[in-house]
Amino acid sequence: MTPFKPSSMIPYGKQDISDEDIAAVAEVLKSNFITQGPKVVEFEKAIAKRCQGSNNQIPFAVATNSATSALHIACLALEVTTGDIVWTSPISFVASSNCALYCGAKVDFVDININSGNLCPKALAKKLALAKINNVLPKVVIAVHLAGQSCDMKAIKILAEQYHFSIIEDASHAIGSSYNNFPVGSNQYGDITIFSFHPVKIITSAEGGMALTNCAELAKKMRLLRSHGITSDQNEMTEQSHGPWYYQQIDLGFNYRMTELQSALGLSQSKRLNEFVEQRNKLAKTYDKAFENSSLTSLFPKEDTYSAYHLYIVLLPTSDSEKQKKIITQLRAMNICAHVHYIPIHLQPYYQNLGFKKGDFPVAEEYYSKAISLPLHPKLSHSEQQYIINTVLDVINSE
Ligand SMILES: *Cc1c(COP(=O)(O)O)cnc(C)c1O
Repeated sequence: MTPFKPSSMIPYGKQDISDEDIAAVAEVLKSNFITQGPKVVEFEKAIAKRCQGSNNQIPFAVATNSATSALHIACLALEVTTGDIVWTSPISFVASSNCALYCGAKVDFVDININSGNLCPKALAKKLALAKINNVLPKVVIAVHLAGQSCDMKAIKILAEQYHFSIIEDASHAIGSSYNNFPVGSNQYGDITIFSFHPVKIITSAEGGMALTNCAELAKKMRLLRSHGITSDQNEMTEQSHGPWYYQQIDLGFNYRMTELQSALGLSQSKRLNEFVEQRNKLAKTYDKAFENSSLTSLFPKEDTYSAYHLYIVLLPTSDSEKQKKIITQLRAMNICAHVHYIPIHLQPYYQNLGFKKGDFPVAEEYYSKAISLPLHPKLSHSEQQYIINTVLDVINSE
């Protein structure tokens, strides 16, 4: 069967902006505040409430102009500095490890589990035992919830207590996901969780991110760092205020603030978060079923996780980057924007210059030569998905 080729490329991810979203942004434009103001607070409150954890605990939420900024100030709040070591997964976007480099820390990686694409707790345990002997234990481990599926946080938390490191959850893919009955972002096991609102993610504010924590002190530090390290709170000042204009810079911070426009968009989008995630799960289930009897293996959520399905990733049966390239090229020629998430970070030239090399994280490299992301977003139509399924099966079977 030769499926009918669509007239334009089907993207792997895409935002869904409604008239209501547009009206919410337009309303802000007519108001007095367009930079950080009341909408930012409203957006933070809405996301925090959505991430309510056990005992109905509502986390503190700090909105930023990107998830990258949020990762940076999260590292700083956890006092990552020169000489410290931060570990993360090599299968992630570069921001997950760059944030530690910004702080002057050293980065190292922990190999992944090929079935989930997530950081492998067994590899983590092994590496920690060795690091303890060599006195190179990490201060922070950044657990990335690939495609929306939570990492095995219980196992990571046990190790965190044993080896005294803090945990940042890079949940850029995972707003709307849950783990062990509670939403990702409730920080059941992590110290700080980060969301991204980039347009390809689950909900968008154009650019934007948020850091969530149950620790008031960490939230306060991140708020300060988000805006130049400047405070207007008398309790934090070193001397009596000079008057109503007075502020003090008490730390070296940044301009990482989110605007009112972004917050209005994010807030409006957040009303459809559950709808988006349900639709993504529905589409993922259709893919799962379609590939059940094929040679492809899907990354699918374990029992204790509910994935927001930022990405739908399949693995080829064998490590063969030539074949993977051929398949993706063929799919793109058929206007299906297949992709690979991610190029292992340690193989990026910048990281190779830091001393990492091919072979350092063999499971991540095997994963990289097998993984293909297929289009998945709430606006993907039934007929588009059927076209993708038929084309993928045709291409795979003709290999
Ligand atoms: C998208 C992404 C980021 C960065 O998000 P921005 O909001 O674009 O800064 C960080 N980590 C992961 C895993 C991501 O996918």
